[in-house]
Amino acid sequence: MSAQQKFYYFDNNATTRVAPEVVDAMIPFLREMWGNPSSAYSFGAQVHGHVEKAREQVAALIHADPKEIVFTSCGTESNNSAIHSALATNPTKKHVITTAVEHSANMNFGAYLEKRGYEVTYLPVDSDGHLDLGLLDKSIRPDTAIVSIMWANNETGVIFPIEEIAALCRSKGVLCHTDAVQTPGKLKIDVKALGVDFLSLSAHKLHAPKGIGLLYVKRRTKFQPYVIGGHQERGKRGGTESVANIVAFGRAADLAVATLDDENTRVRALRDRLENFILTNIPNTIRNGAKEPRLPNTMNICFEFIEAEAILLLLDGVGICASSGSACTTGSLDPSHVLSAMGLTPMRARGSVRFSLGIYNTEDEVDYLIKHLPGIIAKLRAMSPLNPSHPDNDQYDVEGAREKHEKDLAEATAKE
Ligand SMILES: *Cc1c(COP(=O)(O)O)cnc(C)c1O
Repeated sequence: MSAQQKFYYFDNNATTRVAPEVVDAMIPFLREMWGNPSSAYSFGAQVHGHVEKAREQVAALIHADPKEIVFTSCGTESNNSAIHSALATNPTKKHVITTAVEHSANMNFGAYLEKRGYEVTYLPVDSDGHLDLGLLDKSIRPDTAIVSIMWANNETGVIFPIEEIAALCRSKGVLCHTDAVQTPGKLKIDVKALGVDFLSLSAHKLHAPKGIGLLYVKRRTKFQPYVIGGHQERGKRGGTESVANIVAFGRAADLAVATLDDENTRVRALRDRLENFILTNIPNTIRNGAKEPRLPNTMNICFEFIEAEAILLLLDGVGICASSGSACTTGSLDPSHVLSAMGLTPMRARGSVRFSLGIYNTEDEVDYLIKHLPGIIAKLRAMSPLNPSHPDNDQYDVEGAREKHEKDLAEATAKE
């Protein structure tokens, strides 16, 4: 058993395994080529070349010009930077439009802006998680500086029509940003076809390390840096370049292009098999969010009458990783703001679990999940005071399953 098989990872929207080829690509920049790319001597300059090669690789992933790429520390920084720049370069405009289902990077930046005297409109969604573009149209005002709307939702996988949204913004002369963090390797990304002014990515969602992201800034867009310092990134972002992470991001961008087909065929089929199994074999389950258009790897399911936290705990006991809402809200008892915005009752929102698959998931792993999940749900429902019809199928042996998993782990570790 390899180290990768000790747990069953179905939480690829939270973060992803760093691909082995990505690790290989970055190691020389930790061991030997650790110079500063801005230094004049050749030990630094040689590193500069590798940063620029990575810039070309990530630019190719999104069909941008390498000059339009600004490396940042993460997706959160990229989102914050785009909105900050739009407001700073349009000082008379004090209004921002986003949606009620964004990542906390936008939700909490919006709250911060409101405290500083800006106005933020959070567009609602319907029960499928879809936006009303007519409402977006009506919400754009003469003092709107930017519209920032995610491309694909990290909790439900629901995809917004960014091309149409960007066209609407263009027709009204308003800047348009999209948080595309969940899309690489899943959707084809062409910034020219999308027509956005800004686009955010984060490397750890595409099999590269945490702590590196990018902001695409369309040519000739006025830009005010968010991180102010040296002249790195053509003056758009201060701070010495995170060379090893940038090189890793570049390699992962190539990988995302190469695995797009696998994600949309094999991974999609695994997801669909899992989803169909749950919806047809486990009673009182509901898919949250539209079936299509949706990311090929994501599913969000409400298990009525029980708490997702309890499901996740029992899944964890047998080595299965999944999540409720986003990793950023774990530990808070508030129901997911995304599911709440879709009109789910707090009880249904709190009973919802996200499974997000990836290129390293196998048929066997899905079999394993399918083997354990129905028993776990039945067990919890049998104990739930909320359940109107206590099922008698509570035969699942929680303790036994956990002990067996631990024994398997111990044996696998001993063999290594
Ligand atoms: C993960 C995520 C982010 C944040 O990216 P970080 O690099 O972790 O800051 C932003 N938006 C979406 C949709 C995400 O899934």
